[in-house]
Amino acid sequence: MRILLLGPQGSGKGTIAKKISQELNMNHIDVGNILRSVPPSHPRYDELNKYMSAGELVPQDFVATLIKEHIAEIDPKDGYIFDGWGRSLEDLKHFDPNYDFVIVFELPREISIKRITGRRICSTNNKVYNIFTLPKEELLECDGELVQREDDTEEAVNRRLDIYYSETSKVIAHFESQAKVIRINAEPLPDEIVQNTISALKSRL
Ligand code: AMP
Repeated sequence: MRILLLGPQGSGKGTIAKKISQELNMNHIDVGNILRSVPPSHPRYDELNKYMSAGELVPQDFVATLIKEHIAEIDPKDGYIFDGWGRSLEDLKHFDPNYDFVIVFELPREISIKRITGRRICSTNNKVYNIFTLPKEELLECDGELVQREDDTEEAVNRRLDIYYSETSKVIAHFESQAKVIRINAEPLPDEIVQNTISALKSRL
């Protein structure tokens, strides 16, 4: 089974994708992470970094090549959960995974901005914190320095949300016409969203 997850920045898509893929024994293909793992020695690293830090989409031919290389190296298990491939219809022209379902997480724009601008990542264990929602004592449990992703500034988040609402809505409309879309409210806590998503999927199988 191949599933595409879509949702605005801050909808918890990455965390939810990780949990769902573990519960369903599927691979989690996280495009943002694949791009962030490109080493500085790569010939196109500077170009990639320029797009990513501005919150712009990286040229699709490059991203498609990296995804195909990544998939070729992993066990197909029970399928793939894609997070980040299908942000625009252009993506699918470069590489079409033939999705069976498209799950769309829905969240008001102002909540996206608050969640993303408050996101901090521990430099030693990559644990994700949020200055607005996690209590300070919990923040102190992390012994590394808390850093903000370059594209988590208000300006870059707004740019990424503009792309989401202009480009990704066309992708949603495309899959709506094939009756493949499942909509999920992304306001509850991740565990509840995971359960709602799995139940919704099972009811469609
Ligand atoms: P994310 O971690 O999913 O928010 O993605 C971070 C950044 O990676 C995006 O702002 C883009 O610069 C880049 N990116 C992720 N997915 C794609 C894609 N499908 N096509 C082009 N660029 C992408």
